[in-house]
Amino acid sequence: MTKQAFLAGCLARLGILRLMIRRQHKRLPVLAYHRILDDDSDPATLADPGLFSATASSFDAQMALVSRHFNVITLARLLDPAPLPPRPLVITFDDGYEDNYRIAYPILKKHGLHGVFFVTTGFIDDGQPLWFDQVAILLDQSTLPHTLDVAGRRLLPHALPRQQLVQQVLAHLKSLTAEARQAEIKLLERQTGNPRIAAGTPMTWAQLRHMADNGMEIGSHSRSHSVLANETAGTITAELAESRQQICEQLQRDCVSVAYPVGGTSAVNDQVLHAARECGYGIGCTYLSGINRLPLRDPLALVRVHVELDVTLAQFYAQLALPDLFGYRH
Ligand SMILES: [Zn+2]
Repeated sequence: MTKQAFLAGCLARLGILRLMIRRQHKRLPVLAYHRILDDDSDPATLADPGLFSATASSFDAQMALVSRHFNVITLARLLDPAPLPPRPLVITFDDGYEDNYRIAYPILKKHGLHGVFFVTTGFIDDGQPLWFDQVAILLDQSTLPHTLDVAGRRLLPHALPRQQLVQQVLAHLKSLTAEARQAEIKLLERQTGNPRIAAGTPMTWAQLRHMADNGMEIGSHSRSHSVLANETAGTITAELAESRQQICEQLQRDCVSVAYPVGGTSAVNDQVLHAARECGYGIGCTYLSGINRLPLRDPLALVRVHVELDVTLAQFYAQLALPDLFGYRH
């Protein structure tokens, strides 16, 4: 157990975390999840464990804790002028993987909670793995050559563990436009000789409709998971407008929220925020870490609390109670 996990456990047992949450006013934590892992899967075997935020049982425990201490709302609720309940909190999921429907949704229902699911509409449509998943699949070390050329850099793929190699390659690819990145992925395919085999599969429109009919909010995560700040104004608008239109048409309801793909400081800029507003979104989520203050200064640039696969329940609790001490830092 890490020192941080130990400290969080002590503070939880002493009742300090509960007290700190009770004392919080004018705050809006927005939890950020990606995929949820089956309890019988082994995280050590995953090519990119960073995509998983919790196991089914840890997610269940986190939701039990959330329902005890907070009033869970959707992002659309923020556009309603009526006052918010005390201690509001939002639960979000990025990307649109099928485990969100299969594992997370029943757990949310069990606890009577509403989640916000940001979907990459191109992924829902064609079922092809998202580009970062394709890369993780290609980097199977058992078949890799001694050197690998990625975005103008020469890497030694056997010099580090696969999970680190994947992170390093993804970091290079995130600095590119979608077009340049696709060319690099093609090059990787040729160099590795590995085919892109489907990894995570997406939710279907029917599943999203079912969730929307049962109080879940469906938001946009763009059309192709492009790093929007790398793109031209025309592409940014197309990514945001087309995905929104498709969600509205498919679900027969309004789509008011967006989570910018990747979402850090190099993925979101003023041009992206401006385009989101122009495309009709009222609420936008970055992937910057933190807890929002109420009233919101910029509803299109919310920060979120990152939930990572290896956090203990006490650490999760401490991230919400004492974010300055326990919050994830870039
Ligand atoms: Zn994403």
